[in-house]
Amino acid sequence: MSVDPRESHNPPASQGSRLDPYVDAYAARAQGMVASEVRALFAVASRPEVVSLAGGMPNVSALPLNELSELVSGVVSEQGATALQYGSAQGDPVLREQICDVMGLEGIDAVPDDLIVTVGSQQALDLITRVFVDPGDVVLCEAPTYVTAINTFAAFQSHIEHVAMDDDGVVPEELERRVTELRAQGRTIKFFYTVPNFHNPAGVTLSAERRARVLEICRRFNLLVLEDNPYGLLRYEGEQLRALRADSPDNVIYLGSFSKILSPGFRIGYALAPPAVRAKLVLAAESAMLSHSNFTQLAVGRYLANQPWREQIKDFNEMYRERRDAMLSALDALMPPGVTWTRPQGGFFVWVTLPEGLDSKAMLPRAVQERVAFVPGTGFYAGDDGHRHMRLSFCYPTPEQIREGVRRLVSVIESEIAV
Ligand code: PMP
Repeated sequence: MSVDPRESHNPPASQGSRLDPYVDAYAARAQGMVASEVRALFAVASRPEVVSLAGGMPNVSALPLNELSELVSGVVSEQGATALQYGSAQGDPVLREQICDVMGLEGIDAVPDDLIVTVGSQQALDLITRVFVDPGDVVLCEAPTYVTAINTFAAFQSHIEHVAMDDDGVVPEELERRVTELRAQGRTIKFFYTVPNFHNPAGVTLSAERRARVLEICRRFNLLVLEDNPYGLLRYEGEQLRALRADSPDNVIYLGSFSKILSPGFRIGYALAPPAVRAKLVLAAESAMLSHSNFTQLAVGRYLANQPWREQIKDFNEMYRERRDAMLSALDALMPPGVTWTRPQGGFFVWVTLPEGLDSKAMLPRAVQERVAFVPGTGFYAGDDGHRHMRLSFCYPTPEQIREGVRRLVSVIESEIAV
């Protein structure tokens, strides 16, 4: 089957190709790698007078910087011979042991050998796609889904198909229907990619009851699940739910990350996979990067051993809870009728749905002029969907900035509705 990678991704940006002298030399898989059309606007959005509800940057200023700097200098002074040397592609065994304790908080019972440390969970997405996906294979994703996962799946020429979600996460009947339909068409589905907790961008969480049903369906159809869980421990209300992997170790690959519970600057994530898959991922990691940075792994290992990391997560959660509440109460108070939004129990994102006829992407330049930025919904779909949606992040701006940002956004939406 011949595959145009652009079929399975958003339309490429029109600029650039004619100016690029190598345009005919790239591999087919590189044709679909295009910069986001809204990237230029985000450069403007980072000006200080703009309230950015766009980026999903964790608020690292809440970290104890003095303690971290001592800890990092200890890595060099006390463990320099290891820290400055090559390491393994599977990752430091002591850190892997510590990661098992972190995963235990979500009901996962794993041993260090089942784990591979990755460069953020983003590298795990890349390695898994590299190992599983041939051009034209289907990757099932929620609708909407995480934008950089779309880019990664598209980079390996997969064909992305979406499954509907509602306020309780992916709809099991829809998952079953899509798998049945695609298999009946003779399509090969490689895995179902899901962000079960505090979804990026939808802000919703897969309910406990649906977790059991999703696992039952995937087992029945012999379908691998890719569970991406960077936000699971950032819960501001309600009960911690068990990871999908906790109840189905044989057909779930689980991805975790220190980017949100510590810092994205260390670039430490991990993948927990059935043994044969884990072995393949280590081989793929060797060819991608030879070895991990021992330096950052040892720093994170020391942090977990010597700092009160569970307390730090509680501090993050208090800070983010206040910001989420500021956003939800501003939306409740100010948004005009006809606009709806999700109410996340954790994580960073609120997903807004605009009235019929409004287009969030068309609205963005106007919003930036009014000094507020958001991410238009279109980037979170492989096809041409999402025009009536936008993602708002509450993680980085202060509560006061969030209230002001929502005020500005509401005035833009109101004037669009009035047209
Ligand atoms: N998955 C999801 C759903 C995310 O939101 C992010 C970060 N924005 C990642 C993966 C990648 O995170 P990292 O590589 O920093 O671990």
